[in-house]
Amino acid sequence: MTMKTALITGSTSGIGEGIARVLAAKNYNIVLNGFGNKKAIKELQSDLEKGGVGVFYSDADMSKPRQIKKMIDGAVKKFGRLDLLVNNAGIQHVDNIEDFPAEKWDAVLTVNLSSAFHTIQSAIPYMKKQGFGRIINIASAHGLVASAKKSAYVAAKHGIIGLTKVVALETAEMDITCNSICPGWVLTPLVQNQIDAIAKNDGISIKEAEVKLLSEKQPSKQFTTVDQIGELVAYLAGDTAKNITGSAISVDGGWTAQ
Ligand code: NAD
Repeated sequence: MTMKTALITGSTSGIGEGIARVLAAKNYNIVLNGFGNKKAIKELQSDLEKGGVGVFYSDADMSKPRQIKKMIDGAVKKFGRLDLLVNNAGIQHVDNIEDFPAEKWDAVLTVNLSSAFHTIQSAIPYMKKQGFGRIINIASAHGLVASAKKSAYVAAKHGIIGLTKVVALETAEMDITCNSICPGWVLTPLVQNQIDAIAKNDGISIKEAEVKLLSEKQPSKQFTTVDQIGELVAYLAGDTAKNITGSAISVDGGWTAQ
């Protein structure tokens, strides 16, 4: 049987790394991408390879369209096909709108939204040619509802849900789907920074800061794990999910049910 190939942007940390680990365990060849310590990335690569799958690392910067195209072409050259594209790379900046630096707005929109336009534009021709494709955009609860101080992030995440729907319509008659996953709080370095900031500002322990963060938005008062997101990605990537397209699927402990 031909092995499937998955490319996950921003997979050197957090949710992306978790998705890569779940998919490697399910026998996908993996294209890793993201920034970070070279030694740690090599270790992650060897770890994934232990299960017998192929792993290719691209250091493409998701704010650079030419590097994005090179990454997608390189992935197909290496593994012969690209079955699953997961747009996960993301950054955050938190400020009131009047204090929000314009260059931070541009950076958040570029990495969290425009990068997905470029990856999808490069990947779709290969998916059409092979007659199969799955595109999954890691949006956020902030793609469905807002929080103060997150103008760029909320705009980008609402935008990626719109982009998801358009791609779903344009590929609806093929075995290609495009969906968004909308996590609430998942404990990753991106969220740990926010917990550390609460603990410092309020003079409370890390545990108390975690409870405070969860209590404000997530009724389950539990973090989603990166494995849980990985398993949902694997399900959406499979044959049985072929009629799920254009959806925004919440994994948020009830956040957006409120
Ligand atoms: P993280 O900071 O742990 O990981 C982000 C990844 O993106 C890293 O691998 C980083 O190197 C990569 N990255 C950042 N800028 C890049 C660039 N220009 N080019 C290439 N790679 C780049 O964050 P995370 O919490 O794992 O978040 C992953 C995604 O999930 C993001 O899109 C985020 O918005 C979304 N999300 C996270 C949560 C959460 O609670 N953690 C909730 C909802 C949505």
